[in-house]
Amino acid sequence: MSESADKSCLACERGPEQTPLLQLAYLDSVFWICPQHLPILIHDPARLVGLLPGAETLSPAEHHD
Ligand SMILES: [Zn+2]
Repeated sequence: MSESADKSCLACERGPEQTPLLQLAYLDSVFWICPQHLPILIHDPARLVGLLPGAETLSPAEHHD
C-alpha cells in the first residue's frame, strides 16, 4: 500500500487539502477519515461496509440516550 497516494477520507474521498484527515490504523493497513465522518465510524460503522474492509465486524459504540 503506497503511503503518498490515496490519502482521502474513506467515506467522502476528500483529501487533506479540503478537510483535516484523521489516520486510522486497522487490519495492518492505514485509512483516513475526516471529522465529518468520524461519528459514522463510532456510532454506525455498518454504513461503512464496502468502504472500510471489515466494517461489518465492528460494533457501534453504545448510545446513552
Ligand atoms: Zn469524509
